[in-house]
Amino acid sequence: MSNCAIVGINWGDEGKGRMVDLLTRDYDVVVRYQGGGNAGHTVINEYGKFALHLLPSGIFRDGVVNVLGNGVAVDPENLWQEMEQIRAKGVAITPENLKISDRASLVLPWHRELDALEEARLADKKYGSTKQGIAPFYSDKFQKKTIQAGELLYPQHLKSHLADLLEWKNLILQKVYGAKGYTMEEMLDWFADYGEKIRPYVCDSGLFLRRAQDEGKSILFEAQLGSLRDLDYGIYPYTTSSNPIAAYAPVGSGLPSAKLDRIVGVVKAYSSCVGEGPFTCEWFGTEAEQLREAGGEYGAKTGRPRRVGPIDLVATRYGVECQGATTIALTKLDVLSYMDQIPICAHYELDGKQTDVFPFPALLADARPVMEYVPGWKCDISGVRKWEDLPQEARDYVELVEKAIGCPIGYVSVGPERDSIILR
Ligand code: GDP
Repeated sequence: MSNCAIVGINWGDEGKGRMVDLLTRDYDVVVRYQGGGNAGHTVINEYGKFALHLLPSGIFRDGVVNVLGNGVAVDPENLWQEMEQIRAKGVAITPENLKISDRASLVLPWHRELDALEEARLADKKYGSTKQGIAPFYSDKFQKKTIQAGELLYPQHLKSHLADLLEWKNLILQKVYGAKGYTMEEMLDWFADYGEKIRPYVCDSGLFLRRAQDEGKSILFEAQLGSLRDLDYGIYPYTTSSNPIAAYAPVGSGLPSAKLDRIVGVVKAYSSCVGEGPFTCEWFGTEAEQLREAGGEYGAKTGRPRRVGPIDLVATRYGVECQGATTIALTKLDVLSYMDQIPICAHYELDGKQTDVFPFPALLADARPVMEYVPGWKCDISGVRKWEDLPQEARDYVELVEKAIGCPIGYVSVGPERDSIILR
């Protein structure tokens, strides 16, 4: 049996979706273990191009069972929409290939509203939320004030629990934010609609995973976002509200006894970052526009232009260490083909001193990139499938990154399609 986690090393959007889509052929089960619909994995395959927000990327593979683990923020409205969109392209989604953990909590309409109200209150100090309700959701989960998906199976219990939560939540909505609040009728209507839609998929997926483990099935753990957005290890408070690091995969998946045999860390050949927060190697102006255009760096969920810059070796090495990555997938190498020389943020300068240590979040805004440049290859590499067929300059760049981050690069991706990959 082999278990593997696929995780982001940087700020997210590294191309995890394409790697999970590629590797699912070797796994029986794919589990999402954290996060909600606030980010998107882009997958291109024989059914078309998809931005997956909540569904595990194994949904396109016949025979793969997909699980939304207890650590996931399950938004029934968004999930249902996504299921409908994917079904419309001919992909079957049934309780056999999609299982929602009964212990996963549900994102409710008030979470999204509270997210927007709090960002508006913060005004120019906003965190850059995608306003999907994720931060209010996880706060409520830690306060033990959410509805678990399993409660959909016990309507009487759900009703009385909901009444208690509603009373408390209306106090906050009305007294703190001056909002209207919700009535019990509105909430029951919402549950009658979206709750009913997802109910057939809710089960004891922890039991399913334990059995799968006993039978020697191989399990792939799929993360959302990247190390630097991890609530505990990232650029707090500009993080997400959950833990994308691989160490959380056993807890959030529903298989706390899982041992990870492989951790594939996905790194992009340059940097991108969505939303607010310090981004040391950020480019501006035409340089940034050119790279953004070349890499198609617009948010999968929001369409927002992503902030971009060269690869950041300080942040990437830290990300690799946080994830305990055993192998790296370097994606989007093809995007750099237009550059005469390839820029690299090799170190940081902080307080007048050069450092290779990723700083404490509050100091990060003062860090300056120390840049180095290596020769570009200036030719189209998107058709290359063998390491030895890559131009020498491209191989040198990959090897330089590999050495600097201290982890072998096992995959080099040169295009978004399933087969645009070089195995080393
Ligand atoms: P994720 O959230 O980590 O899965 O990343 P996203 O899906 O948001 O962003 C990755 C984007 O890059 C998607 O549009 C992919 O189709 C695309 N992509 C992934 N790998 C490559 C690659 O090697 N080359 C190019 N040109 N595009 C890629």
